[in-house]
Amino acid sequence: MRRPFIAGNWKMHKDINEAVALAEDLKARVGSESDVDVGVCVNAVALQAVASALKGTNIVVGAQNMYWEEEGAFTGEISAKMILSAGATHVVIGHSERRHVFKETNDEVRKKVDAALGAGLSPILCVGELLEEREANKTEEVVKTQVESALSGRSADDVRKTTIAYEPVWAIGTGKTATPDQAQDVHKFIRSLLESGWDKALADDVRIQYGGSVKPANVDGLMSQPDIDGALVGGASLKGESFEGIVKFGRG
Ligand code: PEP
Repeated sequence: MRRPFIAGNWKMHKDINEAVALAEDLKARVGSESDVDVGVCVNAVALQAVASALKGTNIVVGAQNMYWEEEGAFTGEISAKMILSAGATHVVIGHSERRHVFKETNDEVRKKVDAALGAGLSPILCVGELLEEREANKTEEVVKTQVESALSGRSADDVRKTTIAYEPVWAIGTGKTATPDQAQDVHKFIRSLLESGWDKALADDVRIQYGGSVKPANVDGLMSQPDIDGALVGGASLKGESFEGIVKFGRG
């Protein structure tokens, strides 16, 4: 059975001191969590400090983006090797803010997933449709293209190392959550893509997180769906109390 995986995406919040303070708070709240895998995805400047604060706990640390080249004249970018050397194990790739604010393409997302897996980082691959795409009944088409362009042709082992985060863009940071049924429909569709691209055993193993205004008050309904295996949490991951409430879903 898939273990739930709840990850916080701190986005461009928290300087080093603030990030370490939140990490210490989370360590006390959910650092020995045994039923749920927990992660925090942190800005590059605070990555090493947070990874060292969380060393020895059950909380994994991820970066929020990376570049696909190993090194070179790419001012402002960071490589997979740099992320690993900071003590992180995960990296968010293709977050909707990268895709829509920074115009990242599916080709670039694929190259980043290549480089992350090649270096031994576990990608959290974000996919999801815009509001106008949902309204035009294009959700499945958009999500299929995003999933397949990032993952097709990869070994089953590499796909198993990848977490997919379904994040409808209209639900991110807006307070609008997809209903559990709306999210479940897309998660089930993504699992069917994995089954047709690889096989049922692989489709049953890959974790698919939901992201989009997840909070303690709505996490139980989402997590009760059969194909929702966790959450990628933005706003509500910035405070220890609300992130703890999400990690401890179903126990309220
Ligand atoms: C996110 O940043 O991936 C996200 C889902 O943000 P929020 O929870 O704030 O909607």
